[in-house]
Amino acid sequence: MSGVLEICELGNPVLRCCAAPVNNVRQERIQNLIDNLIITASQANGVGIAAPQVGVSDRLFIIASRPTLRYPNAPLMEPTAMINPKIINHSHETIKDWEGCLSVPGIRGLVPRYQAIEIEYTNREGELCYQQLTDFVARIFQHEYDHLNGIIFVDRVESTQDLVTEVEYQKRITDFHGFR
Ligand code: ZN
Repeated sequence: MSGVLEICELGNPVLRCCAAPVNNVRQERIQNLIDNLIITASQANGVGIAAPQVGVSDRLFIIASRPTLRYPNAPLMEPTAMINPKIINHSHETIKDWEGCLSVPGIRGLVPRYQAIEIEYTNREGELCYQQLTDFVARIFQHEYDHLNGIIFVDRVESTQDLVTEVEYQKRITDFHGFR
């Protein structure tokens, strides 16, 4: 079975749970979940999605960065499943930038994140991978990683004044790029 999964929204208790480690990456349930998360993120125009967002409390997420209307400057990469991910080191420096979330429709927030991180995860073939991520992709990783610990980006804004609606956000980036 493969297809688009229903996305849980802010207020659903599953988004506040600490997800459980995945023991066997090769099991069919996990492989199907990965396929369906990739389809779901793509259909929803997301650049990442974590298993708890579809009601599955497993430590697993997809990063699928690509330029979209919502993130015009995103780098293009193959959708990548990261299982049992860990942040093993991070820059001192943090950067604030706008984030949204498929589980929090219509809202954007200015969120501080580490500029660079060193990470470890198991890929869908079961191999342990090590990578350094910077800027936008590092931001996606930290956003998705938070989902595995029951944290949502609105928890990370420094002030509620750093929350805006999607409509107001679109006005700002349009102004910024000078398209009007
Ligand atoms: Zn999210």
